[in-house]
Amino acid sequence: MKKTDLKKLSSEIIRRFAAEYPDAVCHLEFRSPFELIVSTVLAAQCTDIRVNMVMTPLYKARYKKPTDILKDGIEGFRENIKSINFFNNKAKAVLSICETLENKFGGKVPGNMEDLTSLTGVGRKSASVVLGNCFGKKDVIIVDTHLKRVAARLGLIENDNPEKIETELKEIIPPDEQFHFSMRIGEHGRQICKAKKPDCGDCFLSDICISAFKV
Ligand code: SF4
Repeated sequence: MKKTDLKKLSSEIIRRFAAEYPDAVCHLEFRSPFELIVSTVLAAQCTDIRVNMVMTPLYKARYKKPTDILKDGIEGFRENIKSINFFNNKAKAVLSICETLENKFGGKVPGNMEDLTSLTGVGRKSASVVLGNCFGKKDVIIVDTHLKRVAARLGLIENDNPEKIETELKEIIPPDEQFHFSMRIGEHGRQICKAKKPDCGDCFLSDICISAFKV
């Protein structure tokens, strides 16, 4: 599809998403950038529900800042998160993040892509989640599994590589719409355009989707 046609298509999708999911939010529970960055790392290949179940009580009772996790040490932290997939490697990554936050950033989570992606286990996706949700950045595309699947079905992207997908979408979605688009397409992926069986019959995009009733 030509770039101008893609822009027209994306603008209609943005309009319909905004009407359908005006308040789409991050499914991870957090009260600070610190909580969100830790939960984002823990949520890789695990459900948000599980991470919330484990971490929300821990944030309230025990882990309010990086030094609280550092005080527990790797053994203590690992023990507390052991019902989360790949807890061993994730505990190591979180301890390393806490050390860097403490030693390099004065105990605070930095609000820019370069510093965030310098943290262990934090890629562009996790950094974008934090930047959009905690720092009010609107020009971030969050390339997660839902966005990849739904954007491909809608014909908005051709690539499979997350960085290329980010570039493709940044070319057709206005900067101040990118974060909301990411949240809303994620919601659409959870509610209607599901991985195994998209509900095209109930989808408000079926008249403009190239994959409608074909997946
Ligand atoms: S029409 Fe079907 S494939 Fe297209 S976005 Fe909707 S649910 Fe997904």
